[in-house]
Amino acid sequence: MSNITIIEITLGIFFFGNIIALIYSCLVLYTDVFKKFRLQDKPYKPDVFFQRLPLILLNLAGVSAVTFVSLYYLSDFLFETSFPSWWLIPFQVSFIFIIDDAWFYFAHRLLHENKFLLRKIHYIHHQAITPFPWEYIYVHPLEWMIGSFGTVLGLLALVMIMPINVYAFFVYGAIRNLHEVEIHSDLCSPISKYIPFLNPTENHDLHHSKVKGNYASMFNVWDKIFGTVLTKD
Ligand SMILES: [Zn+2]
Ligand SMILES: [Zn+2]
Repeated sequence: MSNITIIEITLGIFFFGNIIALIYSCLVLYTDVFKKFRLQDKPYKPDVFFQRLPLILLNLAGVSAVTFVSLYYLSDFLFETSFPSWWLIPFQVSFIFIIDDAWFYFAHRLLHENKFLLRKIHYIHHQAITPFPWEYIYVHPLEWMIGSFGTVLGLLALVMIMPINVYAFFVYGAIRNLHEVEIHSDLCSPISKYIPFLNPTENHDLHHSKVKGNYASMFNVWDKIFGTVLTKD
């Protein structure tokens, strides 16, 4: 598999995730399809989608450009492209997520506890008190760069142990993107309680409504270990 094919598939997965985010956002904002599953009863401002759109599109262009350049130069070093044995994908995906999510927890917590960073960078994402799905990428451009560094750390840690299977990378990318969309949906998540250690939408939604606590994205363990769990009462 050539570098260009890896880039095309990776950006295709990212594009597909954002089409889902767009459709999901329109359904949440402009229809009653999901109304009974909403976590907060605050109404959305009528023009919120179009207020958010320019920065969302700028960030999508930025993420795509950085992904293109990084994969163009690093794919040969990072990936092996054979068809994997059945256990390799769950193992490698979990490994990358554990490193990535630990980074996300501490970086996100720092963005709150350092008031300069909160005021200058992270406040943009927290304009979404009642988030809608596409607001996962409504962030200061520096914030998605800080977040993406977790992916880089996860990939570098894994490649020091074994070659990274490119299919594991694609699966990781798809899950990471869709999970980010889902935790910004403001809708209760019926399946998360059946998946051990998965952080449900409820936790990140509460983080948006209170602007503190529940700093992790993928796993619910970091906030428990470091005492930053936020509960509704
Ligand atoms: Zn958020
Ligand atoms: Zn935050």
